[in-house]
Parts: sequence; structure tokens; C-alpha cells
Amino acid sequence: QTAIELNDLVHVYGNPTNKGAQLRFDNWKVQSGQQVFLYGDSGSGKSTLLNLLSGILAPQQGSIKLFGNELSDLSNSQRDRFRAENIGVVFQQFNLIPYLSVAKNIELAVYLAKSSKQDLQASIKQFVSALNLPSNILNKPVSSLSIGQQQRVAIMRAFINSPKLLLIDESTSALDNTAKQAFMSVLMEICQANKTTMIFVSHDLELKRYFSLHTPLSSFCQLSHQSENYLDKEEA
Ligand code: ADP
Ligand code: ADP
Repeated sequence: QTAIELNDLVHVYGNPTNKGAQLRFDNWKVQSGQQVFLYGDSGSGKSTLLNLLSGILAPQQGSIKLFGNELSDLSNSQRDRFRAENIGVVFQQFNLIPYLSVAKNIELAVYLAKSSKQDLQASIKQFVSALNLPSNILNKPVSSLSIGQQQRVAIMRAFINSPKLLLIDESTSALDNTAKQAFMSVLMEICQANKTTMIFVSHDLELKRYFSLHTPLSSFCQLSHQSENYLDKEEA
């Protein structure tokens, strides 16, 4: 199955009088279960593409199909529901609620997706251990955690509803090299075990290297910074 299919996609920032950046994305297909590392310089459109894929931004032109669903055919509420049920997003700033505990942040994501997790406590425990988080972390407020821990909590939240597609924005990597390696290895293990399609966005060359080490059929994609944007595919 095709997870992602983009055709003639154009997004323009700003209004007609004050024209901002115009971003074009070439036709692009990602197969279900594939993990892709998407890189490119700052300003090349990585965050924009993730926002288009998650339905947060609507393109001016072109088509985005996710698992056969044309996003523009969905109403706003259908699109929100589609996102909650099928897509896990890890934002650059994590978007966790700082004063709530780790457990409450996760429970909120499950509640919003209206998914009836059979045994939520058991799944959370599995993630805590798989992500090498301390077992007493669940009752701590997110604001008391380190950046690396917050990132793993954001991953846990993105995975808790078993999304078919995971979008990770790691544009500003806050991790040291040892943490990067561990992070990538754990992430890939979970993705491969669940056959999750993943788009991992970063301009970090160390992360790119670890990605190829941990992904048997690694696929890379570069966004170039031009008046026109191209998705250059480079299969490893
Ligand atoms: P990165 O390169 O790490 O993705 P940026 O600094 O390019 O981060 O962008 C950070 C945020 O600022 C993004 O959410 C983006 O949408 C927003 N942004 C970037 N450029 C502009 C701009 N010219 N005007 C308004 N917002 C912008
Ligand atoms: P990246 O994530 O690769 O750094 P972005 O998607 O953040 O790139 O930005 C791509 C281009 O779009 C840049 O030229 C940026 O300045 C512009 N841009 C991003 N967000 C906004 C925004 N909210 N308003 C206006 N321009 C924006």
C-alpha cells in the first residue's frame, strides 16, 4: 500500500499583496512501512511539508493522499479525526503540556483520539521501558524533565494510539551524540516492530548516519533550497 502520495503540491505563505515564500514539492510516493529521513537546509521547507502532511496547513494547489485518502476531500473535523486516528506527530518543541504529569499528557492524547486503548497502563509501562525512561517518571510534571526525556515522552505520546504514520520534526537536535544513537536505535526498533511509516526530519548529519545504521532499507530524501523545491530521492 502507498502511505503517502504527493502530486503537484504548492504552498504559498502570506497573502496576494504581501507574497511570502512559495514552496513546491515534486511528486513523491512513500510505501507503507517505509522509514524516510528527510533533510535539507534551514528554510528549505521541511517544517512546511510536515505541516501539510499532518493537515495543519492546507496547500494552495495539488494533492496529498495518505493511505488512499485525499486530505482536501475531508471536512475540517474529518481531517482532525483522521489525524488523531492515523498520524503521530512529534513537533520540534514537543508541544507537551508542561504542568501536567507525563501520565496525564499521554492520557490526553488517548482521550483526544477517542481510541479505547485496551490496557493503557500496560502499554505505557512498555514504552517507558523501551525508551529507557526511569520507571518513576509517570507522575512527574513534564516541566521537571530533561530535554532528552521530554523528547522521549513526546515519542511515547505519538506512538500511544498506534499510528500508521509517524512524523518527527527533529530540526533542532537537543541531544548529544550518545543520546542520538540510542534515540535512533529505540525509535527504529519500535517503528519496525509496528511497521510504522515514518518521516524523520532533520538537518543533523550524525542523526542521518545513525538512521542509515539502524534502517535496513534506508531511504533518504533531500529538500533543496531554491525558488522551486525538489524532493530528490536517494536510495541507500
Ligand atoms: P527550522 O529551520 O529549525 O525548521 P525555522 O527557524 O525555519 O526553523 O522556523 C521556525 C518556525 O518559524 C516555523 O514554525 C516556521 O513556520 C516559522 N517561520 C519561519 N520563517 C518564517 C517567516 N518568514 N515568517 C513567519 N514565520 C516563519
Ligand atoms: P525548514 O523547516 O526547512 O527550515 P520551513 O518550512 O520552516 O523550512 O520554511 C520554508 C520557507 O517558508 C522559508 O523561506 C520560511 O521563511 C518560509 N516560511 C515558513 N513559515 C512561514 C510563515 N509562517 N510565514 C511566512 N513564511 C514562512
